[in-house]
Amino acid sequence: MLQTDVLIIGAGAAGLMCAATAAARGRRVLVLDHANKAGKKILMSGGGRCNFTNLYCEPNNFLSGNPHFCKSALARFTQWDFIGLVAKHGVPYHEKKLGQLFCDNKSSDILELLLAECAEAGAQIRLDTAVHSIEKTAGGFLLQSDLGEVACQSLVIATGGLSIPTLGATGFGYQVARQFGHELLPTRAGLVPFTITDPQLKTLCTELSGTSVEDCRVSCNGQSFVENILFTHRGLSGPAILQISSYWQPGDTVHIDLLPHIDLPEWLATQQRERGNSELKTLLAELFTKKMATLLVDSWFSNKPLKQYTPGELKTIAERLSDWQLVPAGTEGYRTAEVTLGGVNTDEVSSKTLESLKVPGLYFIGEVLDVTGHLGGFNFQWAWASGYAAAQYV
Ligand code: FAD
Repeated sequence: MLQTDVLIIGAGAAGLMCAATAAARGRRVLVLDHANKAGKKILMSGGGRCNFTNLYCEPNNFLSGNPHFCKSALARFTQWDFIGLVAKHGVPYHEKKLGQLFCDNKSSDILELLLAECAEAGAQIRLDTAVHSIEKTAGGFLLQSDLGEVACQSLVIATGGLSIPTLGATGFGYQVARQFGHELLPTRAGLVPFTITDPQLKTLCTELSGTSVEDCRVSCNGQSFVENILFTHRGLSGPAILQISSYWQPGDTVHIDLLPHIDLPEWLATQQRERGNSELKTLLAELFTKKMATLLVDSWFSNKPLKQYTPGELKTIAERLSDWQLVPAGTEGYRTAEVTLGGVNTDEVSSKTLESLKVPGLYFIGEVLDVTGHLGGFNFQWAWASGYAAAQYV
């Protein structure tokens, strides 16, 4: 039978950070993962360049049933701590925008950094290894796995959420939580594109598929994000849409201001005064692409020289462009979602140690918990911070 101090299930972002940190404290650490490669999501992340943290990471960048839960861990391992680690390994990086830090080269730089830290500290990683059962014992836990029996004092669940099953995501962490009497908050896909089925809207999205509109303000349920939106053949995507998807529930209306930086009533009045013979399509083609201007005008308004519009018609045009209201049919779901909202209820986990308040020695870190970050490097920062926090106590 294998024996270890700390057994971590899941060799993803949180699990690897926890493993390296706990091993550096002198704990014997074994990480098991059923996948054939560690950190598959790290490799896929940030379009291949891993947006590994955010300069402006704050607790209010996270959604959780208990918004205070993430504060303690985030304060003890900050974005600056991870940037320090990146610098120690000489990984070149840059700020893309909005504080988002990306690798200059490849996401694999971040995975290699974590694996190097694990190797240096002496944490063992076993891949292609499934865990079949877990039992609580007097001294800790006994697991049946592809390696046979494994006994440990501390058991860390770092199996992530449900998004992208092809990258190894499973509901295993939720299953373990349930086994040990933990409450689960309903899970749903977050940071995910919307699907549209309304025939007229769907045609608009399909026709404009691939077109992005910069800096739109997208709002829902009291939250707003100003970022790009992207039309797709299924509906809408792009950073602003992904962000708002985490706040959206089926049936909710999404509001899109396509031109938040322009005072549209004023702009339209000026155009009518100064360029009254120009058609609406022609003028809007200065703000959008020509194709988008044509499609918007054809589906929403009538096209004529601006001087022929009544003040009421101009008001309607301004309102429609600054508050386009739509009800998405749904989201693309876990197949393409970057994260899973909900999960292990944080009320039953210590925010300081990440240890279960029900079962001593059992820890939950990373995305399996009901803590979900905004788009922009926040989810990895949560993985690093929660992994690091638990590692101090395992
Ligand atoms: P994961 O990294 O998902 O790791 C979980 C591990 O557990 C996996 O290795 C998995 O194989 C293993 N596992 C699962 N089930 C079992 C089981 N039954 N037995 C054994 N092992 C198991 N966040 C950012 O901050 N920046 C980004 O740029 C970014 N880009 C992303 C791009 C994509 C396409 C996706 C899907 C997500 C992205 N995210 C990004 C989110 C980020 O990847 C996750 O929030 C983060 O990886 C969560 O870390 P974790 O360790 O909790 O889980």
